[in-house]
Amino acid sequence: MKVKLNTTNLANGMNKTLLLLIVSGLCLCGCQESPEQQGKEEVLIMGGGLMGSSTAWQLSKQGFLVRLIEKQDSIYTEGSSYGEARIARSNNRGNDIWSYLHNRSVKEVQELIDFLNKGEVEPSHAMEDIYTTSPVTYVGRIGIYDRLMASLQRQEVKYDIAATPKEGQELYDVILPDSVLMQREYNLHSGTINPRALIEKLHKAIRKNGGQVDYGTKIQNLKYDTASQVYQLSVVKNGKTQSIIAQKVVSALGPYTSTLLRDVAPYFDTLISPQRVFLAFFRVDPKVYQSLSEEQQQKLRQFYPVINSSKGTRAGSFFSMIEYDDSAGNPIIKIGGHFQRSDIENLDQVWQKELDQTEIDWSLSSTARYFQMLDLPIKEEDIQWVKGYSCVYSLTATEVPIVSPIIGPDRTPKTDFVVLGGMSGVGAKGAMSYGLIAADLLTNREEQDSMYTVVKKALGFERLLQDVY
Ligand SMILES: Cc1cc2nc3c(=O)[nH]c(=O)nc-3n(C[C@H](O)[C@H](O)[C@H](O)COP(=O)(O)OP(=O)(O)OC[C@H]3O[C@@H](n4cnc5c(N)ncnc54)[C@H](O)[C@@H]3O)c2cc1C
Repeated sequence: MKVKLNTTNLANGMNKTLLLLIVSGLCLCGCQESPEQQGKEEVLIMGGGLMGSSTAWQLSKQGFLVRLIEKQDSIYTEGSSYGEARIARSNNRGNDIWSYLHNRSVKEVQELIDFLNKGEVEPSHAMEDIYTTSPVTYVGRIGIYDRLMASLQRQEVKYDIAATPKEGQELYDVILPDSVLMQREYNLHSGTINPRALIEKLHKAIRKNGGQVDYGTKIQNLKYDTASQVYQLSVVKNGKTQSIIAQKVVSALGPYTSTLLRDVAPYFDTLISPQRVFLAFFRVDPKVYQSLSEEQQQKLRQFYPVINSSKGTRAGSFFSMIEYDDSAGNPIIKIGGHFQRSDIENLDQVWQKELDQTEIDWSLSSTARYFQMLDLPIKEEDIQWVKGYSCVYSLTATEVPIVSPIIGPDRTPKTDFVVLGGMSGVGAKGAMSYGLIAADLLTNREEQDSMYTVVKKALGFERLLQDVY
């Protein structure tokens, strides 16, 4: 891929050394153009997690030539998107934008699958590679009932609900404590979404459109050259540093957003705070699991994923899901808590931080409490530790992500540089929609749909200005 240059501006605005660097940048990506690449305008996308990958795909779909740069090797071992399962759901008892983001993402994933299958004799891509449809169980305090019911109507969710211990017994065969309700969502493609599989497919589709995905390539020293109106950065691959320039850039660096944007948009440092979240993985002692009746085993599987706020405290709330089955067919259950998150001392090393005993105990007792509610004959001592690790997401004050151009002169949107940041603990289910909106911001593409407009505004530039000033 070749980087487009405005040579007049360059010659006027830059010294010779810089020009040489740019030329070396050209050489870095100056390979022969394929028919898919010819005549397309280029965009550089920094960060190949869910957000960067989905934006790059959307841009490639809109006819742009994308270059996606990711510091990890092709098999990821970290990043907010690392893992095999995130909860995907249409219902949210608060803001309807989450419902839109998920539903639109499902549609966009279908387009991706169709694109990948196009021209194949035996279609090898399916929605089921990305989504595991499964009832999503919500357990909460009765105080949310009215708000929940209103949102269920607006958000067109197929559901049922038990709001008393008797209803819990009759409808789900569970033991609901007083003042606790259980609601279950049955929409197609609600359940879990697999970030690893989605990223893999996105990269495949980007390449199919003539785009480039560079793994093991670390970006540093991002700057904007006002005279020539280009972004300059260096990339390090296999110990070699090269310089590149770009006229249009998307930043999707997850927790590293503020570190890399220090020069072009320093305000992200206060808007986004990387937070550590731990994840614990358990299995039921295989002997105990095998001793469960088929019905009980099915019940255990069908009541995951769950978002459980029955304790009525933020610290007691947890999310939990089946991440995968082990080789003997025992479900491996993952649990974490968004309000168990903590500040980070060293972002580069946080992935290696082990869980402490309090975190392990919290995870274990929360899992045991849920089994008790499900009325399954599994005691706390039957739950076996598998593994745990720390992960990170970048949090905004309101937990609403930012998808916006950066702020230019006179507080106008600088539409050649779009940031997706602060995706918090909610990004995965809406990943394809965030990518669509980011691409649209860069290309000035508009949609008339009223919810699209509402969502774009909620995430976008006016909100960024308000947050900064
Ligand atoms: C524990 C946990 C549970 C979650 N649960 C849910 C859930 O149930 N439902 C839901 O919808 N969402 C959930 N999320 C949120 C969702 O996973 C994130 O919002 C989403 O993955 C963020 O993606 P991203 O692309 O912004 O970030 P990332 O995945 O972090 O992507 C950023 C990428 O940039 C790369 N990068 C960084 N620096 C550089 C550099 N200098 N050069 C090149 N590349 C660089 C990184 O390696 C990384 O791959 C959860 C997140 C976590 C951590």
